[in-house]
Amino acid sequence: MKKKKRAVIALGGNALGNTLPEQMQAVKITARAIVDLIEEGCEVVVAHGNGPQAGMVNNAMIALTHEDTQQPNTPLSVCVAMSQAYIGYDLQNALREELLNRKISDVPVATMITQVRVDENDPAFKNPSKPIGKFVSAKQAAQMEKNFGYIMKEDSGRGCRRVVASPKPVEIIELGTIRTMVDSGNLVIACGGGGIPVIRQGSHLKGASAVIDKDFASCLLAKELDADYLIILTAVEKVALNFGKPDEQWLENVSIDEAKQYIEEGHFAPGSMLPKVQAAVDFAASKFGRTSLITLLEKSRDAVQGKTGTTFRL
Ligand code: ADP
Ligand code: MG
Repeated sequence: MKKKKRAVIALGGNALGNTLPEQMQAVKITARAIVDLIEEGCEVVVAHGNGPQAGMVNNAMIALTHEDTQQPNTPLSVCVAMSQAYIGYDLQNALREELLNRKISDVPVATMITQVRVDENDPAFKNPSKPIGKFVSAKQAAQMEKNFGYIMKEDSGRGCRRVVASPKPVEIIELGTIRTMVDSGNLVIACGGGGIPVIRQGSHLKGASAVIDKDFASCLLAKELDADYLIILTAVEKVALNFGKPDEQWLENVSIDEAKQYIEEGHFAPGSMLPKVQAAVDFAASKFGRTSLITLLEKSRDAVQGKTGTTFRL
């Protein structure tokens, strides 16, 4: 029997939507894209972002401190954990239904709440740059700095927002469990929102006020699981040079050297396409035979068939 190809997929914002009803609708389309890959013979592992969801949980928990002064503020690491469970629930529910609709009854679906270790000396901690949560006035920002110890920054004339560090993922704490589940044929959802960031203090893992980029966490997960594919599903079908300009050029097959050159030339926006291309390069360069793909969520099947998307290989 042909060995199945193992694919770690990274779901972007468009796979989950911004509100509860949006997410419930979006996961149906997302489940279709994932089950398409299973029908293509892939063994799929799902990672995903959580920007809007973690922001939503964070705002709700801040509201709780206003309602009930006995409640201290909830750490960001706990908000990420809550978002993993909430997103995992919606994905498990939609995936189970889609699998049953296609008469696939031998693929159990499970979410692994995942902690991801970061290095407390990561330079990102010295320069928190990732805005999270809602915009507030300068006065509210000063209050939040005082009450919660947040770092607040003015964000492009739109008000103030909390900023946190975005350190690189170093170690997936629950990797052993994830591997066991994947090896025994489960469809596993892991490293949600890039993982719950933790730093090591002796035998204790301390939650960190940070967010890990989901594209980098997915890359680490794909390498650790010795996957054949890292598939980053987002809102564009292909990666472009001169994106949004008159001389825009869509990329199909990119070598590692070409990709590195395009990164140097500044073709990819930091915070959106840049981390994806960096993750794609990192995975594809890590071992001969590994392929990274960046494409539109709905095109996952076409992309593994080689019909579309941007492919990165050594
Ligand atoms: P996700 O939520 O999937 O992580 P992002 O919005 O962070 O999605 O990143 C994907 C977006 O990056 C695309 O929708 C596109 O608007 C933008 N983008 C920036 N630079 C490029 C580029 N060079 N080629 C294609 N898309 C680009
Ligand atoms: Mg993104």
